[in-house]
Formats: sequence, structure tokens, C-alpha cells
Amino acid sequence: MAADPQLIVPSSASFKLPAAHFIGNRAVNPHGGMTLPVIDPSNGEAFGEIARGDAEDIDFAVESARVALGGEWGMLSAVDRGRLLYRLSLAIGERIDEFTQIEARDCGKPLKQARADAIAVARYFEFYAGACDKLHGETLPYQAGFTVLTLREPLGVTAHIIPWNYPLQIFGRSVGAALAAGNACVVKPAEDACQSILRLAQLAAEVGFPAGAINIVTGLGSEAGAALVAHGGIDHISFTGSPDVGVLVSQAAAQNHVPVTLELGGKSPQILFADADFDLALPAIVNAIVQNAGQTCSAGSRLLIEKAVYEEVLEHLAGAFEKLRVGPAMMDLDCGPLIRQDQLQRVWDFLSDAHADGIAVMASGSIVPEAPENGFYQAPTLLRDVPWDHRLAQEEVFGPVLAAMPFDNEAHAIRLANSTRFGLVAGVWTENGARQMRMARAVRAGQVFVNNYGAGGGVELPFGGVKASGHGREKGFEALYGFTALKTIALRHGE
Ligand code: NAP
Ligand code: MG
Repeated sequence: MAADPQLIVPSSASFKLPAAHFIGNRAVNPHGGMTLPVIDPSNGEAFGEIARGDAEDIDFAVESARVALGGEWGMLSAVDRGRLLYRLSLAIGERIDEFTQIEARDCGKPLKQARADAIAVARYFEFYAGACDKLHGETLPYQAGFTVLTLREPLGVTAHIIPWNYPLQIFGRSVGAALAAGNACVVKPAEDACQSILRLAQLAAEVGFPAGAINIVTGLGSEAGAALVAHGGIDHISFTGSPDVGVLVSQAAAQNHVPVTLELGGKSPQILFADADFDLALPAIVNAIVQNAGQTCSAGSRLLIEKAVYEEVLEHLAGAFEKLRVGPAMMDLDCGPLIRQDQLQRVWDFLSDAHADGIAVMASGSIVPEAPENGFYQAPTLLRDVPWDHRLAQEEVFGPVLAAMPFDNEAHAIRLANSTRFGLVAGVWTENGARQMRMARAVRAGQVFVNNYGAGGGVELPFGGVKASGHGREKGFEALYGFTALKTIALRHGE
């Protein structure tokens, strides 16, 4: 095991940006003494530093989690675990404004959207608090003379790799479920968005979580992240991020024979039939690509429109796109900046490919004049007649760009919907009940929303992908099973 990095006693309950990991309920300086800047996407300026973790820091965090499992945390009853999670939920609930500010500044999210994330993480801990003492095995009918039962045991040390687009929410759904099942967690947030997660871990310590139940190591994916997923002391990996890094994480999991949950990207279709309720559908379709500036795995980034209403729908949507305003997180407009300059460049590359291939821009929003010049702003853009096999219709842009295309009939809509390598979410908009069910069954996706998109993000609803969108399910009660090992005990006692 690595030598103990220097320990620092937490200064006060008030949150100060620490360039330190949070391990064993303490701020811990990075072993290598290196830091990374924290950038505000709204103006491109650095406003602090985070610790740049390495393999030694990961060793220390995994050891801290292991010790917790054998100590106070591992000894807690399910009821007491639930009470702790509930206390954390209440504490977050009392600090919604603080978390809103942290997340808005760090991720560039408009305040309303950051606030929704803060409320969601409180709700995740509330939901999983209530689940702790309801997660149980079964007794199984078997041969005479036997009693057979199953136990749901924690896996042990769970590793959580979290992306920058929804740090609070993804921490809530993944760490909340893992803790509820009795695991101890090591979390590697994305280097671009660590602040809210560091604060959550600090708050968990303040409300009484035993040392080592939640450990945070910040740093680069290629350093701290790679060291965590390759570590021989972890028992599960929960990864949310891009399909390419998902492959690396799967390979690391295979080396260690540990289970892995992959929540990857999407190119999710919104399928709009001529008989749909447009008043309901069109605002939801706009929101599903503008929310978090399109940097959402489940963004509705392809719009399939029945031919008979294609022009009419595009006209309506163009009006809505032209009204969209983009600006700094604190102005709380429709859309904030993207996370980084290179993400912005990536979106520009997609748009210049579209232009070169003759794909027309139907409408776009506007960046407000108050937006600082060095912020990472992209106006929401509606593209029309995008060929189904163009990269704009096949690859994740991760920006506010909606690719529209017409379809002839139901069979054609299904073919188009299923024509990408992804299968995360689909939206189906039609008033025809039988068609709703036919479409819901025919589209290959982890979740299909009929006459809504996302169902308000309910924490109760299992979530995950098929195909290149990943495997395993997070959220809801379902997630808990993925964070347990099922043990079968067969007792022969005779008749
Ligand atoms: P990413 O580059 O794959 O990064 C995701 C996380 O993996 C970050 O914490 C990153 O750390 C870390 N990482 C990078 N390289 C690593 C390695 N070799 N080993 C271990 N960890 C490594 O993805 P992103 O661009 O940040 O996030 C956007 C992607 O996430 C999109 O594809 C989106 O669809 C997907 N996503 C999916 C869901 C879902 O639930 N399905 C939800 C949200 C996002 P650093 O950033 O510090 O390098
Ligand atoms: Mg940041």
C-alpha cells in the first residue's frame, strides 16, 4: 500500500475550494503535489484548483474504502444505513441554493437547470434511504429436507467514474444506490466538474457517514480514472461517459473479473406522427436538445417527422429556435455555455461538415451580447433534411444541434429510429393508442417515452442503454441489484 499522503484536518463546515481529494472523511493533498485549474465555462477563466490524483492516491482511497467495510460502515444495520442516507438527503435539501451555485458555476448550467440537479440528488438519497431495509433475498422451494435461501450482499468497494455533464445527479444515482446496498465507494469525478461532488462528500462526513464510506479522488481520466478502474482492490465499476472510454473501462474490468455498469452515449430519436398533440410535443422536443446545451446522454438529438406535416412542424420549430437565448449560467437563460473549448470546437466541426455536405440550417438561437467573449457558447441549431447515414444523424454531437428528417410511414420510422449504433432513449409522439404500443415495442432503446420525453427524470425509473449505449441499469430499485452479489445458501436438514 502507498505511504499515507499528508492529511489535512477540514477547516470548517463552510465550503472552500480545496485542491485536495476527500478520503476517509478528510481533505487529502495529492501524493504528487500536482493540481489542475478549475475553469468557469461561462467566461473561460480559472477560479480555483483541484488535486491531480495519481495511482498512489487511488491506492489510498481504495484502502480507505476497504477499511470502512471492515469497520463502522460495514457494521451498520440496513436501518441505520438508511437513516444516514436520509440525513444526507435532508442536509442537501437545506443547501439547494449552495449546490445550485456550485454546479452552475462549475458546469456552466443555467441556474434553473442546476437547481433541478440539486433537488434531484436530494431525492436520490431520499429514495435510496428508503430502499436500504427493503432490499432482501428470498427463500426458494426445493427438494424435501432442504431449506434454500438467497442473501443480497454488498459487492465491496465500488468504483464510480462520473462525467462532467450531470455530476450531482450521476453521483446521486450511482453512489446513492451503491451505499444503500452496503458498499464503500471510490469516486473519480470528471476533471471539469468536481466541485459539487467534493462538497457532497464533505457534507456526508458532516452528517455522520463513517470515514471511508465515500472517497473522492480528483484528477485526469487517463491518470486517476485509469488507475481506479485497473485497481485490483475494487469489486465493481460504474462508468458513465463516452463509448470510447467505456471500451477501456470494460477491458480493465475484464482484467480484474469485476462487473461493470456502462452508461454511455446516445443519438436518441424523437418520432413525431402527424396526429400528435403539437402543443405538447414541440416544446418538449426543443427542451430535449437545449437542456444542458445538448450535453446530455439522453438528448433527443434526432427528430423524425411524418412527411405530411414535415414543413409545418419545421416552421413551428424554427420560430421556437429563433427565440432561444444563450448566455452565462448566472443569467439563467434557455441555454448556457458548453463545458470546454474543445467541446465547442467539436460542435463546430460537426456543423462545418454539415455545411460542406449541403445540409441546411433551418433556424438557430442567439448568444446574448452580455456573454463573455471567452465563454464556450454555441447557439442552438436546427438542421433539416439530414440524411439518415450522415454523421450528424449517427454520432453524438453533445451540443444543442437537432437533426431533422422526414419519414413515410410507421415501418420507415422504426427503421430510421433503429439505424444508429446507440439505443438509449426514444420519444414517440402520437395520439393513436395501438401505434404507441407498437412503436414502444419496436424501437430498440433502454427507455421509450410516449407523449413525453424523460418523464421528468424520476429517480424511481430504471435507466440505461442497449447496443453501444451500454448495459446495466441505474436508478430505481433495479440499480440496487447491480450493486449486490447474490449468495445462495442451501441447508440440508433432513425431513
Ligand atoms: P468521457 O471522456 O468518457 O469521460 C467520462 C469520465 O471518464 C470522466 O470522469 C473522465 O475523466 C473519465 N475517464 C476518461 N478517460 C478514462 C480512462 N482511460 N479510464 C478511466 N476513466 C477515464 O466522457 P465525457 O466526454 O466526460 O462525457 C460525455 C459522455 O458521457 C457522452 O458520451 C455522454 O453520452 C455520456 N453520458 C452518458 C450518460 C448515461 O447515463 N448513459 C450520462 C451522462 C453522460 P476526465 O474527464 O477527468 O478525463
Ligand atoms: Mg469547471
